[in-house]
Amino acid sequence: MIAENVKKVLAEIAGGNPFGEKITLVAATKTRTPDEINEAVAAGVTDTGENKVQEFTEKYAAVQGVNRHFIGHLQTNKVKYLIGKTHLIHSLDRFELAEEIEKRAAKAEWTADCLLEVNIGCELSKSGFALEEAEDACKKMRLYPHIRVRGLMAMLPLTDDTAKLTALCKEMRALYDLLREGRENFDRLSMGMSGDWRLCVANGSNMIRLGTALFGPRRTPLPPQNFTAEA
Ligand SMILES: *Cc1c(COP(=O)(O)O)cnc(C)c1O
Repeated sequence: MIAENVKKVLAEIAGGNPFGEKITLVAATKTRTPDEINEAVAAGVTDTGENKVQEFTEKYAAVQGVNRHFIGHLQTNKVKYLIGKTHLIHSLDRFELAEEIEKRAAKAEWTADCLLEVNIGCELSKSGFALEEAEDACKKMRLYPHIRVRGLMAMLPLTDDTAKLTALCKEMRALYDLLREGRENFDRLSMGMSGDWRLCVANGSNMIRLGTALFGPRRTPLPPQNFTAEA
């Protein structure tokens, strides 16, 4: 079932978005076991995203050969566990976090690729820079030489109001296009979950984060595990 779901989504996004951009599927793997994740990887998933540092760490060795994203709220005291291990952190949502990433990344002589999280009309997540603050925040992130802002991330509100969602997506895409001017390596707009990804892609997202659409209904969090790498 997981493999089928993955193949279906990959086939559907294969043509890219209407802006002529390739779409990256990030499998949102919270509460899923390494076996389930590896089934998705065998079916073509190249990128996985965890939203808790503990799960990121527990499954690290048991899932190989993927680009690892961190997509959830990141506490500053947990940054150290991600250094050198992430392909992309989607949740750069405050300067206090940028300070900590900079400090740790500099020490490790590593550069953290991040997305600036924008809080767009959002009840779902209280975190992120306001739309009006984002341009200035993006500029200020240049003060941190070990952080490279690669684009934007947003979580849309949970609503069936497609007109509202479309308007929010368009606002995000407009901001993304504005910020992209004069910035190198700024090429990702991470927007879209299982319930709204088609709408997001139609309006300019090029990175979608899917959990239930790939793995089935949400599960309650796993108790702490000690997954080990397969020999
Ligand atoms: C869980 C999660 C997703 C995926 O949600 P689904 O509705 O299951 O597709 C996307 N982004 C973040 C940040 C998540 O925590």
